[in-house]
Amino acid sequence: MTESDRHALRAHPWEFEVKPFRIAGNLYFVGNRDVGSYLIDTEEGLVLIDSTYPSTAPLLIQSIADLGFSVRNIKHLFHTHGHFDHFGCTGFIKAFSGCMTYLGRRDAVMFVENPSMILSEGSGICDFSPFVPDVLLDGGEVFRFGSTELLVIATPGHSDGCMSYFFDVEEAGFKYRCGLFGGAGFNTLTDEFIRKHGNTHSRSEYIESIDRLLEEEVDIMLGNHTAQGRMLEKHAEAVSLGSSAPFIDRNEFRRFLLERKERFYREFTVK
Ligand SMILES: [Zn+2]
Repeated sequence: MTESDRHALRAHPWEFEVKPFRIAGNLYFVGNRDVGSYLIDTEEGLVLIDSTYPSTAPLLIQSIADLGFSVRNIKHLFHTHGHFDHFGCTGFIKAFSGCMTYLGRRDAVMFVENPSMILSEGSGICDFSPFVPDVLLDGGEVFRFGSTELLVIATPGHSDGCMSYFFDVEEAGFKYRCGLFGGAGFNTLTDEFIRKHGNTHSRSEYIESIDRLLEEEVDIMLGNHTAQGRMLEKHAEAVSLGSSAPFIDRNEFRRFLLERKERFYREFTVK
């Protein structure tokens, strides 16, 4: 993301609006042009994964309303990781809904011990502070919300407490497994970042995390950031076809992971 994008996100976040849309089954995209946010309408209430930037709260709340849902009915709010662009509206959503909030345990430790690592100096909001999660995730958990089973797999690297999520949706009588890789960015793996924050373990953890997920079967890849998984392009294709088919690609998740791995080794060595 360029500095001018970062500025735009703070100064005129409405330019990042994406009209919300259904991906497949009971799964909806409610993110913005930069960052993903996913709403699952379960028999036991709404489940949200990631809450976008603090400056994009109005977009997220409006997106949920545009779909005919209310932010007040969110029961569970999961986070891929503890950077401000993924939990920026969590305070609002918790206040409006009383939802349970979930975060990787190691990112909850980071909130307390290394708050500069949530990267919120880019938020443009004075005194922006992290939330206190209700449930700490270690990976390996399976949560059941009605007929939706949400599997959590620990994928540290981009952050220590980064979590990836897997669950099924049903569309036109078929089941599809959705996969959301919790954090792919290299910005926390650079020499400069590691020198500043001392996270010398992150590169090897990143590669181990990718290897851990390579055999996961995923039919629908969800982008942690919107461009990953080409969420908007697929939506445009889905609209023109009148079907969810453009979102379904059984090889994409693995392709994405392998591409990240290849790029990683082009840019870094494991310390
Ligand atoms: Zn991040």
